[in-house]
Amino acid sequence: MITFKQIQLVGFKSFADKTTVNLGEGVTCIVGPNGCGKSNVADAIRWVLGEQSAKMMRGSQMLDVIFSGTEARRKMSMCEVTLTFDNTKRIFDIDCDEVEMTRRLYRDGESEYLLNKQPSRMKVLTGLLHGAGAAKEGYSIIGQGRIEQIMNAKPEDRRSIFEEATGIVVFKDRKTEAERKLGASKDNLYVFMQRMQEVERQIGPLKKASENALKFRELYAALRHHEMNLYISRHDSAEGEREAINVKAFEVAQKIAEVTARSEKLLSEYQTRRDEIAQAD
Ligand code: ATP
Ligand code: MG
Repeated sequence: MITFKQIQLVGFKSFADKTTVNLGEGVTCIVGPNGCGKSNVADAIRWVLGEQSAKMMRGSQMLDVIFSGTEARRKMSMCEVTLTFDNTKRIFDIDCDEVEMTRRLYRDGESEYLLNKQPSRMKVLTGLLHGAGAAKEGYSIIGQGRIEQIMNAKPEDRRSIFEEATGIVVFKDRKTEAERKLGASKDNLYVFMQRMQEVERQIGPLKKASENALKFRELYAALRHHEMNLYISRHDSAEGEREAINVKAFEVAQKIAEVTARSEKLLSEYQTRRDEIAQAD
């Protein structure tokens, strides 16, 4: 459960002077005559919790929350409310036993947000409050006249008021967020499945192509092998042919030598015969 330890107001609505409201354990009641500013304290809490609607702050514009002066006192140029939370149970993800959240508004419209006195941003504060289930939507602030409204409300409207008061809104928001994420995941899954199908469709042709590539490699290696063998065998047979031609050439040369020898012999015989004929003459 979220507990405030202190509310400090400066220049907020009827609280022109710095006012500190200390909240002890249990229930704290503020008692006072009409118009003394009891509801203004509740407004201050709602304001720091992130209220952005001037109507919810019971004004016509947000600047109406700054002390607007009285006959005896000048109006102020800024207002500031600080809530001190008990963080001993680390409801906020901050390593301090107390967490101070401050909202400031200047008459020129400038806003400031502080976290433990350090300048911060509204988003940071509402983020922390959301995380702890204490943002303005989830927090149960039952305004004046609201009780009557609750009693007279239709059961379904009453349900939503109790849901707000018990902080179920935070879980409803989380549920909606989770459902939205689930939807997005389903969409992603669908896209992924489609891609899977596409890839699966490509697997068949790709497998065929890879088989063909392997076969090609195998056949190419075989081709190289055979080409090499062919070359070797061609080389070998050319060698054989050369040998045979050499043998033939040798034989022919021998024959030429024989014929030449015979023709020389015949020529010399012819010469001898002619010499004999000449002598006989
Ligand atoms: P009731 O018992 O009637 O509900 P209450 O105690 O809740 O009264 P609030 O509504 O908190 O009273 O306070 C109303 C008073 O705050 C009015 O007197 C109003 O003039 C004063 N007030 C509201 N806004 C400002 C402001 N910006 N500057 C000065 N006074 C303001
Ligand atoms: Mg009131």
